[in-house]
Amino acid sequence: MLRSVFLAAAGSSRLERLVESAPIAKNIVRRFVAGSGIADALRAGRELADDGLAVSLDYLGEDTLTAEQALATRDEYLTLLGRLREAGLTPAAEVSVKLSALGQKIDDKLAYEYAHAICDAAAEAGTTVTLDAEDHTTTDSTLEILAELRKDHPSTGAVLQAYLRRTEGDCRELATAGSRVRLCKGAYAEPESVAFPSALEVDKSYVRCLNILMSGEGYPMVATHDPRLIAIAEDRARWFDRSADEFEFQMLYGVRPEEQARLAADGHTVRVYVPYGDQWYGYLMRRLAERPANVAFFGRALASRK
Ligand SMILES: Cc1cc2nc3c(=O)[nH]c(=O)nc-3n(C[C@H](O)[C@H](O)[C@H](O)COP(=O)(O)OP(=O)(O)OC[C@H]3O[C@@H](n4cnc5c(N)ncnc54)[C@H](O)[C@@H]3O)c2cc1C
Repeated sequence: MLRSVFLAAAGSSRLERLVESAPIAKNIVRRFVAGSGIADALRAGRELADDGLAVSLDYLGEDTLTAEQALATRDEYLTLLGRLREAGLTPAAEVSVKLSALGQKIDDKLAYEYAHAICDAAAEAGTTVTLDAEDHTTTDSTLEILAELRKDHPSTGAVLQAYLRRTEGDCRELATAGSRVRLCKGAYAEPESVAFPSALEVDKSYVRCLNILMSGEGYPMVATHDPRLIAIAEDRARWFDRSADEFEFQMLYGVRPEEQARLAADGHTVRVYVPYGDQWYGYLMRRLAERPANVAFFGRALASRK
């Protein structure tokens, strides 16, 4: 129930203006977002790297409807990648990109072209790009663009969402040699026709997908904070004889940092997804939708009015 309220709020531009102008917003956002500019992203990336964690930086923004904004997003990533290289943060730091922020909804050829430029810059900086997964209406286009990008940049990462009924099939397609695949539960409001409606079914799907990826030839990126799924992933890695450099765990900035440290101390590769930028509204609403405790945190911050 709460999940659907927050996911509906994620799409409301009126609420967006209201929340963004609330004085307390900054305090809440600080927990999940590294800051508004590249300097903040680099600082967070450096701190995490010093703690032995890998990073995927995401410049916040989605559903871009103007060509100018799509171009500005491309340019931000090009600058970011140059700065990451100068700071010596690559290859430990890569970038995550939303194709909708590069104009996928205006023209998918434009999004491809801009994503290709970002992949070129990442290769030059000695690192990689992962294409975030968005709502199911974009999945076909995103996977088609991924296939095109991989012709020149085979290490471009895919993201698959276990809540989608189609995803087991997509896992089979993508579990090929060298294929980097992030598996997550999925964060958008989706109809039952395309997505499993219950948390239990999503978890079961996640395990089936994990089995396909772990037994396949690609590089699984296990993106979850769920202790049961983490334990199952560790078990499958042992079962399929995968060493620490043959898969990785991924978690979000500000979520379960102690678990991130524990897994890294156990010898696992752990990558933290670090968002930065001013367009944090949709991202924050999806985090609130995921967990009642995050909502309580939101409520306390609102009440304290700091
Ligand atoms: C690195 C990364 C990248 C992602 N990329 C995408 C993407 O491209 N597209 C997309 O749709 N979604 C993406 N997601 C979001 C994802 O789909 C889920 O919405 C999100 O990760 C929550 O699912 P969960 O697997 O953590 O499990 P949940 O069902 O949210 O949580 C399961 C359990 O994990 C534990 N837990 C969760 N949060 C906390 C916390 N704050 N403190 C303590 N315990 C906690 C609790 O035990 C909880 O019961 C990404 C997630 C990660 C980690």
